[in-house]
Parts: sequence; C-alpha cells; structure tokens
Amino acid sequence: MKTFRIGGIHPPQNKLTAGMPVTVLDLPRRVQLPLQQHIGRPAVPCVKVGDTVVRGQMVARADGFVSAPVHASISGRVKAIGPIMNAAGYSIPAIEIEADEEAHRADDVMRKAQIEFDTRPTDRTLSERHTPEELRRIIADSGIVGLGGAAFPSTVKLSPKAGHEPELLIINACECEPYLTCDDALIRGYAPRIAEGIELMMSACGARRAVIGIEDNKPEAIAALRRALDPAWPISIAVLKTKYPQGGEKQLVEAVTGRRIPSGGLPSDVGAVVNNVATAFAVYAAVLCGRPLIERVITVTGAAPVRGNFLVAVGTSISDVLGSVPDDVKVVVGGPMMGSSAVNLQAPVTKATSGLLVLAAGETRRLTPDPCIRCARCVEACPMGLEPYLLSTCGRLRMWPEAAEARVLDCIECGSCSYICPSSRPLLDYIRTAKSAVKTLNK
Ligand code: SF4
Ligand code: SF4
Repeated sequence: MKTFRIGGIHPPQNKLTAGMPVTVLDLPRRVQLPLQQHIGRPAVPCVKVGDTVVRGQMVARADGFVSAPVHASISGRVKAIGPIMNAAGYSIPAIEIEADEEAHRADDVMRKAQIEFDTRPTDRTLSERHTPEELRRIIADSGIVGLGGAAFPSTVKLSPKAGHEPELLIINACECEPYLTCDDALIRGYAPRIAEGIELMMSACGARRAVIGIEDNKPEAIAALRRALDPAWPISIAVLKTKYPQGGEKQLVEAVTGRRIPSGGLPSDVGAVVNNVATAFAVYAAVLCGRPLIERVITVTGAAPVRGNFLVAVGTSISDVLGSVPDDVKVVVGGPMMGSSAVNLQAPVTKATSGLLVLAAGETRRLTPDPCIRCARCVEACPMGLEPYLLSTCGRLRMWPEAAEARVLDCIECGSCSYICPSSRPLLDYIRTAKSAVKTLNK
C-alpha cells in the first residue's frame, strides 16, 4: 500500500469519535470574528458598530489577493470592533456580533433547512454555468480557506498562471492527526457533495484529474466515497497506509504520485495542487448553494464532557462548544501533534479550528528532558530528511546561519522528532525558534 518514503511515525490513533456523525451545534448568542483567520493580510471591516447584519453577510472584505473576507455567522447587531484575546493569549482584531432574538430563530430554521438540503441530490448543471474565473471569484468572495489547518486562501491555490495549470488535484482526506475525525465524519455524511466540490475545484484550476488521498483507517469513509464517485469521472481514490504526517502536503504528494517536491518547492513544481476534503465541501456549499464559509465541522474529544463531530458557527467561543470543564484540564486547539494549548477559553473557534482536545489533569505532565543519547531516532522519524537534534541545538544556542544551512526552513513542524525522542527533548520548540529567526533574517 502506498505511503511516503522517508520517516514518519505511528502514534496511538485515539480516534475516540470515529463513527460519530456530524451533529449540529446550536447557534450561539454572540460571536467574535477575527479579521485574520487565514494566511495573508487581515480582512478590513466593512460594517460599523451598531449596524444590523444578517447571517452570511460580508462584514470584512479581503485586503488584496492573499487575504480572505469574513462573514457574519449569526444575524444581529455589531457590538464592537476591536481587539480580543485569541486562544493562545495574543491580542487580535475582531468583530463582535450579538444576536437579535427574532433573527436568531429564523437563522435556526434556515440552517436546519440548509443542512437537510446537503443530503439531497444537487442540480449539477449549475456548476456548468460558471467559467473558471467566476468559480474563483465565488470561492474568494465566500471567504474559503484551506480547512486542514493552514487556512491559506483557496483562490490563490486555484489560480495557476496561464499555461501552468496543474495536471492533478489532490484532495487531502488523510486526517493523520490522532484524535481528529471531523473530515472522516464529513465524508461519511456528505460524500456526494464533496465529489461536487472536487469537480468545481478542478474546473476552477484547470486540473484534468483528481485523486482523493485517504488513509486505510477510515473504511466507512472510503466506502462512502466509492459509492459517491461515478467510475466515468476523472476522480479516483488512493487508499494510503496509515502513517503520520501523511497529511503534510509534501508527504501526501509523494504518497499519491511517487514524486518528491524539491527543498523549498511547492506541489505545483511536480504538477499538483493540494486541497483539504472539507475545503471541497465548502466550495460545493459556496458555488451550488450560495453559502459563504461561516461554519465548519470540528472534533471535540478527549476528556470533553460531550465528545463528537460538531458543525459549529465560526466565532462561537471555545467554552460555548465545550460546555463546563474543570479548571485543571488542558485544552488543545487542533490535534495533539500540531495543535496548540488554549489559555483563553472565551476565544472563538475560527475557520482554522479542526478540533478541541481536552486533556485531563493527569495527562498534561511535561516530562523532564534528559541529555541527548545520539540514538538518531529523531533523524529516522523526520519526514523531511532533516537532522532534528542538530536543528534543535542550533535553536538552543542561537546559531542561525548553521540552522539555515541545515535546512531549518524545510521543517513542517510535524512534531515527529519530539514525539519519538527517548530523552523527551523539546526538539520542536527549539526548531520553531530557529525557523522563525531564520525567516526574519531572510526578509
Ligand atoms: S518537526 Fe521538523 S524536524 Fe521534527 S520531524 Fe517534523 S519536519 Fe522533521
Ligand atoms: S532522538 Fe533524542 S536522544 Fe535520540 S538523537 Fe534525537 S535528540 Fe538525541
């Protein structure tokens, strides 16, 4: 079975919510919408305090090509525009909307009808009415960004230079992070709509064929995709051997095509473009149903009071999603390998939030690092062919030129090295420091 060749690890999967369907979480009474939920320039507010807004209305426009607009995820009144604290504890600009009771009830009715609509056959001819330019404009205006975690504006990826159209669209359905099952649940519930989204993405970027890369630990999702795909369509499925971090763009391209992306290169260097499976669903919803990206499916797992895969309005606070949790738990935004700890549970769920992992007090103990025993297990595990022990030493001793020379910028921050190290060394923490210093020096 196919997979990427260099490195990789097999952490316990802990997919506690596997098999659970997508459950709709009620709309909150208040949302906070950060102006930057994506890579690129922050969006610029196009409403003012006191304005009445309706669900789906654009409240901040994109500022340039590498940017994404923000839309209201509830109807109500703009209560504030200003700084809030994000989950990591940093101050970021956001728009706060307070629900209007009557409109809130109408939103609920409309939302349930929309979700019901997603289970029915769609008028596929609608997609044929759009040129690639129109599709890219709808995707951009709908605020769609990569939903696998990076949140890169999707239109940018789907806008190749003339004559450089990708040969292949790869859909990332690996969900290789332990605990997370939101993509799995979305595929099991809505595979036909995802197939439509993939066709639309192919039209938008000019790719002649698409491959859905999915790991073999999701048999129900694979079966749902097989049922949804017509064999006559140029969309196939590549079932991959489960291995972390297969969802990394470079690892996935290699696993699916056998081609390696060169150091510092992009999937386009080998004729491919990669998008997440949830992004394909968002494209379907935007183009065929006129729905901007105002909600997404996230996994709530670990020691959370209620686990599941929930459809959550962007801007809902983490505490509204989790319900009450004891003070001594640790909440991780994302998965355990690449996620980050939340210090502020009043912070909002954003377009980039794929999961909330609650770790009980006993599970959060940080191990004391021992000296490096030069076992090279970190080197064996690194999927980028790097020497993590060396990069981490460069970071610890502030040796930036040496870090650059050792290709620190190729690190995808997968955490495989820290996970595998028998001396519990915080390799990735130091590598991140070196990476950010080298990036700053290169500017
Ligand atoms: S975090 Fe970076 S250095 Fe460590 S294994 Fe992943 S890619 Fe390699
Ligand atoms: S895995 Fe840990 S102990 Fe082994 S070489 Fe790497 S840093 Fe040193």
